[in-house]
Amino acid sequence: MSEAKDIREQIRVNVLDVRRRIRDAAMRAGRREDDVILLAASKNRTVGEIIAAAEAGVAAFGENRVQEMLSKMPQAAGLDWQFIGHLQRNKARQVVGRVSLIHSVDSVRLASEISGRACAAGSRQRVLFQVSLAGEESKAGFLPGELEGALEEAAGLEGLVVVGLSTIAPLADEPEEVRWVFRELRELAVGLGGGSGPLSLSMGMTNDFEVAVEEGSTIVRIGTALFGPRLE
Ligand SMILES: *Cc1c(COP(=O)(O)O)cnc(C)c1O
Repeated sequence: MSEAKDIREQIRVNVLDVRRRIRDAAMRAGRREDDVILLAASKNRTVGEIIAAAEAGVAAFGENRVQEMLSKMPQAAGLDWQFIGHLQRNKARQVVGRVSLIHSVDSVRLASEISGRACAAGSRQRVLFQVSLAGEESKAGFLPGELEGALEEAAGLEGLVVVGLSTIAPLADEPEEVRWVFRELRELAVGLGGGSGPLSLSMGMTNDFEVAVEEGSTIVRIGTALFGPRLE
């Protein structure tokens, strides 16, 4: 087998394995596998790797950097692209309307910028508000106490549709150590949803996605477990 074929085959096996683990975690929590979207975190991955994952049945891809995403998009058309990295306001214009979901709105000013760009294009942009639960200075996101006020301000933004929340758990030796982070995000979402139906919850990565699914994740963002270790 050629090396490219080896890599494609490995990704196919990985996708099946991750899907099985999502299904098992969902079942443990009495949830349905179909209620969890597998999003491939494809930063630093080649278009060939992305296409291999798409051929193995992954529909959604999340990128962290605007330029990298824009350069890959035309080479892998027809995929569901989402933006999962920190978004600077001056780059919002390049992302709005090109992705189905922005996972990382971390300020009202960014929300306002996104809304303005979407309105100008006659559209609305679906977004998630990112929440910083573990209190790490380095992780962007609203503090839980800021969230309600921020959502109220954003409610007046015509070009924005806030469909849920996202978070990045701190690195832990054991995924159980961060279960509380996922539980707290879900409780925040339930508290804010006011019974108006389930909200999207983007939470869980390679190290902790099974615990996140058990706690109600609806989108897991997975890189390493699909593509192998990253060279950064
Ligand atoms: C890279 C990344 C992921 C995936 O990380 P893995 O540990 O490789 O699964 C998920 N979410 C965000 C925001 C990322 O930047």
